Amino acid sequence: MRTALTAIADELKRLKATGVKSVAVSDESVAVLRKMLAARAPKTGERKPETGKIEPAPTPRPQVLAPAPGKSLEKTPASSAAKLPAPPVVVLPVGDKAARLAWLSDHVLNHPVCTANIRPGKKAVMGVGSLDAKIMFVGEAPGAEEEIQGEPFVGPAGQLLTKMIGAMGLKRSEVYIGNIMNWRPQIPTPAGAEQIGNRPPSTEEMMFCLPFLRAQIEIVNPAVLVALGSTAAQGLLGADSFKTLGEIRGRWKLFAEKPVMVTYHPSYILRNASNRSKRMVWEDLLKVMERLDMPVSDKQRGYFLDK
Ligand code: URA
Repeated sequence: MRTALTAIADELKRLKATGVKSVAVSDESVAVLRKMLAARAPKTGERKPETGKIEPAPTPRPQVLAPAPGKSLEKTPASSAAKLPAPPVVVLPVGDKAARLAWLSDHVLNHPVCTANIRPGKKAVMGVGSLDAKIMFVGEAPGAEEEIQGEPFVGPAGQLLTKMIGAMGLKRSEVYIGNIMNWRPQIPTPAGAEQIGNRPPSTEEMMFCLPFLRAQIEIVNPAVLVALGSTAAQGLLGADSFKTLGEIRGRWKLFAEKPVMVTYHPSYILRNASNRSKRMVWEDLLKVMERLDMPVSDKQRGYFLDK
């Protein structure tokens, strides 16, 4: 029990470090937390050191949040993912881009596997942006904010991504932003409680959702993809194609016949807000701008050069 409470405290500290100022906690979650606190008494059969009394059996406790002892919720393994059917085959209808994307969006958001993997009141998430985007950013999976709003990259990492896009001289609405996965990877929680923290998607989950991303690429037909972070890179390039992101970041790769620039996820910058890490990501984005013959001012070229 202490482990779950410690894990929650760790996750709240982590969120605070990434700029989150408040978290929404439902009445049900508060009730569960109260029970968890109340249940911090010794387990059945354990002796209370100070009295030597045997404690009565406690009332059944809610299912504890998923982390194994000593692990934070963020590190909840992908192996806690539900088993999924084989990846879907997506056959896009004929029509213009808008009609095809509207069809795909409806198909994904109402897909029984997607809807079965989200909590009541939460949303599956499709990509958003310009149908004529030259750049498609690909992230990992929706988080807490994204599954509420039903839009990718709207939480703290998303706000930073929007700034990065702005630094390239573009508006968010001029690019396309998608994810490898269309739902927030679920972590078992007590009934009715909000999920705290995220876990990485399992390979099976990524493989299931990949046809939806391929279909978005087919419709939008961007000139380049930007893979944000190692999960996105694994989803696009294969889990065995690299050992560390450092090996492949800043290099052009290929997915669905599109050049892919691999870079760090914005949440990495939120955790390591040094000019050095910002510069690494920025250099990767400069390569994207150069490949697309976008104008690059001297000012832009010099961003984050101060140590
Ligand atoms: N991180 C991601 O990778 N995708 C999102 O949509 C939000 C956060």
